[in-house]
Amino acid sequence: MSAPLVWMDGEYLPLDNTQASLMAHGLHYGTGVFEGIRCYPTDHGPAIFRLDAHMDRFAAGADALAMSVDVKEMGEAALELLRRNQQSAAYVRPLAYFERGGLALDVDPLTPRSFVATLPWKSHLGDAAGETGVSLRTSSFRRTPAAAVPPLKLCGNYVNSILAKLEATRAQYDEALFIDADGYVCEATGENVFMVKNGTVTAVEHPDALNGITRASVMELVSAESRPVHVDELREADEIFLTGTSAEVARVARFDDREFRRSVVSREIALLYQDVVHGRRPEYHHWLSWT
Ligand code: PMP
Repeated sequence: MSAPLVWMDGEYLPLDNTQASLMAHGLHYGTGVFEGIRCYPTDHGPAIFRLDAHMDRFAAGADALAMSVDVKEMGEAALELLRRNQQSAAYVRPLAYFERGGLALDVDPLTPRSFVATLPWKSHLGDAAGETGVSLRTSSFRRTPAAAVPPLKLCGNYVNSILAKLEATRAQYDEALFIDADGYVCEATGENVFMVKNGTVTAVEHPDALNGITRASVMELVSAESRPVHVDELREADEIFLTGTSAEVARVARFDDREFRRSVVSREIALLYQDVVHGRRPEYHHWLSWT
């Protein structure tokens, strides 16, 4: 099969035919915005889950950087790429970044470039995460405060997540948990946090956390409450699970030195989420964009 196509600035072309400059502003300073989106096979063909919500968040990131990009065109390009590449399970990665115009910090003279790739799917927590559960470790790093960088998918901000992830994996854990200076739970490096206590499902709320689309979807699916949660309360939870486009609904099997053996509610929610993203729940078909 020929190499999969990507979309760049309005054109469909093989990835190897694309080029980016070593003087790209985005490379030096992280001045870009991206999204992580999934396409799933369904009985009615491949469908992207919550494309509009993802592209709205992408638009908010582009606006924060005063970057003028045609977000609607990029969403359509994602669907078209899946068709042209004949993919049914894929990770969709839109990216817009500043390229030419110099290395000064004023972005107004810079030219943005926009890009969409549809990649064969691979979970960043590992496909086994659903079975064995994720090990989670409290990070020594703080999440970037929203007052410093808005909690959007701005490229440079991901150095914060990457440092925390590195610390966690060096300590033989899968994921890092950010807590704030007062001990309130924020989020993981690429997932939001939920807990279950006495049958009540709570989505952890924190102003510095990304407004996750999986989080919002799960909240709606199970009518979860949303409120701030202190790490001491999280430690006493019956179950903890993480949500994210990539991780989906991933139960936590270990949090610091505590093991969680039973994750009945988390497993149920994970299965429901799988039904929804695979189009097996017609009442949520409005969340799917078919290719
Ligand atoms: N927090 C961070 C820092 C993330 O990068 C992600 C992944 N986008 C999430 C939470 C989960 O967000 P979503 O459910 O929209 O993928």
